[in-house]
Amino acid sequence: MSITPLMPVYPRCGVRPVRGEHCHLISEDGTRYLDFASGIAVNLLGHSNEHLIGAIQKQAATLMHVSNLYGSPQGEHLAQRLVDLTFADTVFFTNSGAEAVECAIKTARAYHSSVGNDHKYELITFKNAFHGRTMATISASKQEKMHKGFLPLLEGFKYVDFDDLEGAKAAMGPNTAGFLVEPIQGEGGIRDASDEFLKGLRALCDEHDLVLIFDEVQCGVARTGTLYAYEQYGITPDVMATAKGIGGGFPIGACLATEKAARGMVAGTHGSTYGGNPLAMAAGEAVLDVVANEEFLGEVRAKGERLRGRIEQFIGNYPDLFIGVRGRGLMLGLMMKVEPRPFVAHMRDNHQLLTVSAGDNTVRVIPPLVIDDSHIDEFMERLSAAAASYAPEAPVT
Ligand SMILES: *Cc1c(COP(=O)(O)O)cnc(C)c1O
Repeated sequence: MSITPLMPVYPRCGVRPVRGEHCHLISEDGTRYLDFASGIAVNLLGHSNEHLIGAIQKQAATLMHVSNLYGSPQGEHLAQRLVDLTFADTVFFTNSGAEAVECAIKTARAYHSSVGNDHKYELITFKNAFHGRTMATISASKQEKMHKGFLPLLEGFKYVDFDDLEGAKAAMGPNTAGFLVEPIQGEGGIRDASDEFLKGLRALCDEHDLVLIFDEVQCGVARTGTLYAYEQYGITPDVMATAKGIGGGFPIGACLATEKAARGMVAGTHGSTYGGNPLAMAAGEAVLDVVANEEFLGEVRAKGERLRGRIEQFIGNYPDLFIGVRGRGLMLGLMMKVEPRPFVAHMRDNHQLLTVSAGDNTVRVIPPLVIDDSHIDEFMERLSAAAASYAPEAPVT
């Protein structure tokens, strides 16, 4: 037998973390890494955050799980908080981002079905998007490498270029249910949508009674310096998927919706055994306690500016390696002239700095939101040492 007990679907690197200390990870062999990957935008509060640990421990000792067949004071409380903090009127809790997007897709279809338009099931989505790994969410993500071996895809998705309003408009037809879009593409390379694009999609949805779904699984929960990224665009979606950061490391997702958009999601239409259990709710509450206030959000913006400024100033020294920085808040993308993957590996293996590569030759710099200036200094030291010692292979053409 040569298959590993852990199904070998990930090309895992040699780092084997066994402990976390704030913004650092310690591996099995004792090596200490600066974690500017945050479990891919998950560990907002860093590792070993006392407030989060305390909340989970307390809830674990009180009541971990009950069925959604019973009333949920814990779920009601967190849902109310999210409703108060966002555009939404109602929330469905899941255990992951893909499930939150699944629920969003179902919500859009159910909306049209509930008003007698069963034929309006098609969502227009955008190239280089990432919406998850379930059948529906890979079908929604236009990335051949995610589809290979898993055909046929689920029907009902049409892909157009990201940030191309005219293309989105041209793709509309009698079956169109709405749009599913990441305001800032994460896996796609930290590419933020233009104001005109998202405002244009909003206008099309208003005009044609379509459902606007934002996938804020990666860019949401304070990452970009507002609780959700849509706030920076001056519009609101009808439905939104959130996950990653919202549990600070505990697996939680949620699908948020307006009352109108959720009109098809009535009793018996959807469910999840674990979704929104008391333990998950305690983790979500603890994360919101810390991040959902203007002081914290302002700090994220300020730290994002400082980090971005430092990186921008530095990369001028290596015009053959770097092109520039983009993104918002602490969701930054370092655009490279060379393949990002080997450079990410070099930073990791030779300079104990963790980042994540992404599409469009980008390195994602997505630290815990609780970094301070010492971590920014440490990041810059490690990044400069890595750039100085890097012998890139042939530049990307
Ligand atoms: C990570 C991600 C998902 C999928 O989340 P999982 O928790 O891995 O299922 C969906 N959408 C976006 C934008 C993501 O970044």
